[in-house]
Amino acid sequence: MPVNILFSARPALWPVYEPLLSQGLRDAGLDFVLATEFEPDQVDYVVYAPNGGLLDFSPYTRLKAVLSLWAGVESIADNETLTVPLARMVDHGLSQGMTEWVVAHTLRYHLGMDEHITVQDGVWTPEAPPLATERCVCVLGLGILGQATAEALAALNFRVIGWSRTPKQIAGVTCLHGIDGLKTALSQAEIAVLLLPDTPATENTMNTETLALLPKGARIINPGRGPLIDDDALLQALNSGQVGHATLDVFRVEPLPPEHPYWAHPNVTVTPHIASETRPVTAAQVICENIRRGEAGEPFVHLVDRQLGY
Ligand code: NDP
Repeated sequence: MPVNILFSARPALWPVYEPLLSQGLRDAGLDFVLATEFEPDQVDYVVYAPNGGLLDFSPYTRLKAVLSLWAGVESIADNETLTVPLARMVDHGLSQGMTEWVVAHTLRYHLGMDEHITVQDGVWTPEAPPLATERCVCVLGLGILGQATAEALAALNFRVIGWSRTPKQIAGVTCLHGIDGLKTALSQAEIAVLLLPDTPATENTMNTETLALLPKGARIINPGRGPLIDDDALLQALNSGQVGHATLDVFRVEPLPPEHPYWAHPNVTVTPHIASETRPVTAAQVICENIRRGEAGEPFVHLVDRQLGY
């Protein structure tokens, strides 16, 4: 009997993924049917993205696993109708894209590039920026993306502090954890990068109290998720100068509504959730490998801890 694989994502992704997944599944030697529609009780695997609209998994009685195309799984991790393993996306292309984006925005702040790009006023002010060794960047979240980013910043000689839930050891990065670790990290963070998942435990990680711990004028880069930041607290901190500038890629409501104060704030850069995206060529290999594993009776990789939500 063939393995039935339901592709449930934004329709525009189907023509991109269909040939890549089909090739990968053939290479894995599987007899399969890959489609965007099935009778629910005939489906073995769901390739999932939140914008595919699939919310109720209870009729999917034969389901073996849900394989997310996205790294962030907050839209599905607490779905009580889902009782089979949930794997998230860990994709080399996604990590590379995130690293490039964070490094670029960090360098923008570090080198004071806005001054030279936006202020061409004929005034010659020869102030060279400090070296990266003199700049502390703090990366909150040291998972797949946070670690790759922290390592890239460390390779550029930034003084990198990382923070995570559990203790870590990463070469060139001072790793902290727990609430005291967060306070220590933020109190030194001239630039704070948020790469935490959106879970009940991480909501409003950046709030009035934690924003006040930052050195005055610190910069925030958030490619993680919108709910990591208390927006009112950030706007207040921006208005008081406690936070010098914020680059925000993700928001509680997306697309960010045109009337949202972030758009017009002189010290905010809004980017439209483009920090990094799943790259189909590499991501299809990850999905196919997990289906191969499932069919071979091997453990799935990149499983989500449903209790922790990531
Ligand atoms: P991982 O699951 O690999 O890593 C998550 C990290 O966050 C881990 O280091 C984890 O700690 C830490 N963490 C989780 N909860 C807490 C907590 N309560 N306190 C302290 N640390 C915590 O995720 P990824 O690195 O793959 O992705 C991170 C996020 O990036 C995604 O969840 C998604 O929201 C976002 N993302 C954004 C994209 C964009 O384009 N803007 C693209 C892709 C992802 P520990 O290691 O101890 O478990």
